[in-house]
Amino acid sequence: MTVLVVGSVALDSVETPFGRADDVIGGSATFFSAAASHLTKVQLVGVVGDDYPLDRLDALASRGVDLAGLERADGESFRWRGRYRHDLNSAETLETRLGVFSHFRPKIPEAFRRAPFVFLANIDPRLQLEVLRQVDRPKLVACDTMNFWIESRRSDLLTLLEQVDLVTLNDAEARQLTESANLVKAARWILDRGPTHVIIKKGEHGAFMFTRDSVFFAPAYPLEDVFDPTGAGDSFAGGFIGYLARTGDVSEASMRRAVIFGSAMGSFAVERFSIGRLTEIGMDDITNRVRAFHRLVSFEAELPP
Ligand code: AMP
Repeated sequence: MTVLVVGSVALDSVETPFGRADDVIGGSATFFSAAASHLTKVQLVGVVGDDYPLDRLDALASRGVDLAGLERADGESFRWRGRYRHDLNSAETLETRLGVFSHFRPKIPEAFRRAPFVFLANIDPRLQLEVLRQVDRPKLVACDTMNFWIESRRSDLLTLLEQVDLVTLNDAEARQLTESANLVKAARWILDRGPTHVIIKKGEHGAFMFTRDSVFFAPAYPLEDVFDPTGAGDSFAGGFIGYLARTGDVSEASMRRAVIFGSAMGSFAVERFSIGRLTEIGMDDITNRVRAFHRLVSFEAELPP
């Protein structure tokens, strides 16, 4: 089954303790597509400026990502500049330049409107809402967001929550959105607004998936070399939704397996700058990492009957 993703297609400049990269390809929709395209067909909607090196997206096109919905507009591309210090869990945004995103109105191509899975990647919640008005009753709609939009578009974001099935966000964003320090309470607050599932990512400390009556936890893969955390969250979402779309199964058991596929894709994303690692791996690498996750958490319980 196909996944439609709408989000940012960016040029990122990133500093980590291990090096820096300038104007490399990034963006929420880009990382999502690089991860999800290993598992299913992806249709991307977004915008770039006339300065964007489109040939650098060939790696996505050659993986079958349909770029027919990627508009090229006059002006500067979206740019994000960020820094990670030794705590690789939190990005410090140094600059966000919306460029062509500030006038962007997403137009979902006719051929994309019936995608059964829709991921509203991190962009202006007003644009995320516009996308929902154009799609034809998807099987599952998920969304992501970040501090930038929680601060500047809070009421649109709250309207959006009423219209999605699943939300992914990191722990700091969950606390900021819900004004609750406790993540279990934060998840409950979000579930009370409409979504049936909330995934709270905690970087190198793993991810929780909450429903009204269950909690599932997956650790992050303990990597020895984390190079650049940018895009881990979007790659998680790509692995998660990609797995659901590949199997067409949205049962609880499948959702739990999807969290592990998401965690696996997030762990690849951080091994290089940009989408470097995500475009060189194959299905064997993914299967091996999922297997490693299985070993990581399995134990034989000796409990009284
Ligand atoms: P993450 O998966 O959370 O690390 O997301 C990283 C990506 O988010 C980067 O490639 C950025 O280009 C993109 N990004 C940063 N700020 C924004 C924003 N305000 N809106 C949309 N995308 C953004």
